[in-house]
Amino acid sequence: MMDVDKIRDETPGVGRVVHLNNCGAGLMPQPVLDAVIDHLRLEAEIGGYEAEDAAAGAVANTYDGLSRLLNCQRDEIAVVENATVAWDMAFYGLPLAQGDVVLTAVSEYASNYIAYLQRAARDGIQVRVVPNDNHGQTDVAALAEMIDDRVKLISITHAPTNGGLINPAAAIGRVARAAGVPYLLDACQSAGQMPLDVEAIGCDMLSATGRKYLRGPRGTGFLYVRAAMLERLDPPFLDLHAAVWQSPEHYEMLPNARRFENWENYVAGKIGLGVAVDYALEIGLDAIAARVQGLANDLRDRMAAVPGVIVRDLGQNKSGIISFSVGDVAPELVKESMAAAGINISTSSARSTMQDMYRRGITMMNRLGLHYYNTDAELDRFMTCLRGLRA
Ligand SMILES: *Cc1c(COP(=O)(O)O)cnc(C)c1O
Repeated sequence: MMDVDKIRDETPGVGRVVHLNNCGAGLMPQPVLDAVIDHLRLEAEIGGYEAEDAAAGAVANTYDGLSRLLNCQRDEIAVVENATVAWDMAFYGLPLAQGDVVLTAVSEYASNYIAYLQRAARDGIQVRVVPNDNHGQTDVAALAEMIDDRVKLISITHAPTNGGLINPAAAIGRVARAAGVPYLLDACQSAGQMPLDVEAIGCDMLSATGRKYLRGPRGTGFLYVRAAMLERLDPPFLDLHAAVWQSPEHYEMLPNARRFENWENYVAGKIGLGVAVDYALEIGLDAIAARVQGLANDLRDRMAAVPGVIVRDLGQNKSGIISFSVGDVAPELVKESMAAAGINISTSSARSTMQDMYRRGITMMNRLGLHYYNTDAELDRFMTCLRGLRA
C-alpha cells in the first residue's frame, strides 16, 4: 500500500494548491527540491566546476536510476535539457533519404510532427499516419500491413499529451522487431506514471522529460538509445563533450549514448532528476500506475455524470490524463475558474496534437493530469467547482 499521507507531507505544494496539472509539470517532492537547491548553493559557495566535481557521485546516480527505471544499461542513457531535444537527437540522427517512410500515430505530439514535416521538405521522406482501432488507439494490425521495405522508422507517442490514451507500445514493438525497423517511443507522459521496460516494449530509442510524472525539476530530459542502435545514428551535432578531439584533423565520439549530450548543462537539475527517479522507484511504478489509473477512472465516471460535461479520452486502459469539455464554456474560462478556486488544470489545443484533434473536430478542450498524491478530498473540490460551472 502506498503511504499517501507521508508522500503528501513530503510535497510542499499540496498545502497551497489542488494540483491536477501533472501532465504539464508535477509537484516536486521535498528531497528533489532539496537536492536542486543544495547543489545551487554549493555552486555559489565553491564554484560551479568545483561543485560538479564534488557531486560526481550524485550525477552518476542519475544515470544509474534512469537505467533501473527503463531496464537498460547506464551507457544507453543521455541526459539533456528536455524531452524534445532528446527526441530530436534520435530522430535527426537517423539517416533518412528521399522516399524513406516514417510511420507514426494519430496522436503524435506537435514537435515530433513538425520535425517529420521539416525532413519531408528537406530530405524527401514520407510520413504516414497509422489509423486508430475501434478503441481510438494505434491499430497494430494496420501498422503491420503498412510495413514495406521503404519503412525506415516507427515513431509513436506512448501516452499522448492530450488525453488518457495509452498506445499499445509493446505490441507495436513486436511489429517493429519482426520487420527489423527502428522504433522510437515518445514516453514523455508515461515516464514516472507507469512501468517502462525497454526490453518488454522492444523500442530502440525512448525519450522523456523530468518535470511531468517523474516530478523532477524543469529543464531536464533524457534519451535512451539501445547499444545496438548507437552506430546507426549520426548525432545532429557534436561538441567537445560528445566527442574527443584526438588530433588536429581527427575526433572520436564518446563510445556511449552521452554522445547525444553537450558540455554545458544544468547540473543541479540533473542531480534532482536522479533523486526524482529514485523517489518514483522507491514507491514503485506498478503501485503508481494502479493508484493514478484508479483515481482517474473514478473521476472520469463522476465527471461524465455531470450534465453537459463531455469526457473525451480514447483508448482501452487509460492514463492519469483526463480531457474534457464543459458544455459551451470556453476552456480558458474553465481553467481560470478552477484557478480562482485554487485548482490547477490546463487546456489542450489542436496545435499540440493536430492529426487527432482535426479528425475529431476539436479545436480546444480542457485537460488535467492526476498524480498518486492527489486525494478524494481534492477531487471532491474539483467536482464542486465543475458542477458550479454548469449551474
Ligand atoms: C510534454 C510532451 C513533450 C515535450 O516535452 P518537453 O520536455 O517539453 O520537451 C513531448 N511529447 C509529449 C507526448 C509530451 O506530452
